[in-house]
Amino acid sequence: MGFSVPDTGQGLPSIKLPVMKLLLAEDDAMLADALTTQLGRAGFEVEHAPNGAVADYLLHKQGFDIAVLDIGLPMMDGLAVLQQVRLTQPALPVLLLSARDALDDRVAGLQAGADDYVTKPFDFPELLARLQALLRRSQPTGAAATMGRLSLDTTSHRASVGGEPLEVSGREWTLLELLLQQRDKVVTKEQINQAWSEDGGESGGGNSIEVYIHRLRRKLEDAGLVIRTVRGLGYLMQAAPA
Ligand code: CA
Repeated sequence: MGFSVPDTGQGLPSIKLPVMKLLLAEDDAMLADALTTQLGRAGFEVEHAPNGAVADYLLHKQGFDIAVLDIGLPMMDGLAVLQQVRLTQPALPVLLLSARDALDDRVAGLQAGADDYVTKPFDFPELLARLQALLRRSQPTGAAATMGRLSLDTTSHRASVGGEPLEVSGREWTLLELLLQQRDKVVTKEQINQAWSEDGGESGGGNSIEVYIHRLRRKLEDAGLVIRTVRGLGYLMQAAPA
């Protein structure tokens, strides 16, 4: 049972995702508009700062879960904003954007305390995957994770449904763990491929992800959860409606 989020439509997504507050500091108005829209559809509540001074002000005035800072900003550049926020919020996940593929920028950004770095131009799914990876790293999960009747013991790598052991392959396990860690949030195909390649397996094409999702859906028919397809973005796992 799938649903879709329109790629270009004006409508709201048909489900409500948990809100992550994101500060977007970007002086290119068209890019900022496009990102605000796309991030909004991906479940973020976006606050836009058109220059570094506003970004600095908002970061110190409001609580954000994550920040995306363009380096080349008027009034105060992204690196200066980052240095300021690190003084008071050392754990805030921060991703830098740069128009240039400059190694100096990258090094300076990482030295200033950035968690990740994306060079313009970039594809939105790549940015989204990196943001979700940062959020996942910043939110520790317990050794045992459950949803519905599904339980994953992340120490022993054993899955069970209602106490009955569930046979899953290595790739299925990785996929399941990713979906459960990001419950109610979209897991992109890029994230899945990256997680699989980190596990040392051969990299899978787009179709093979669909095959694995299909298998998991069949195995989890009685687990009290659903894996939804978010067209153009990826998949998300939710508790089944009562
Ligand atoms: Ca700029």
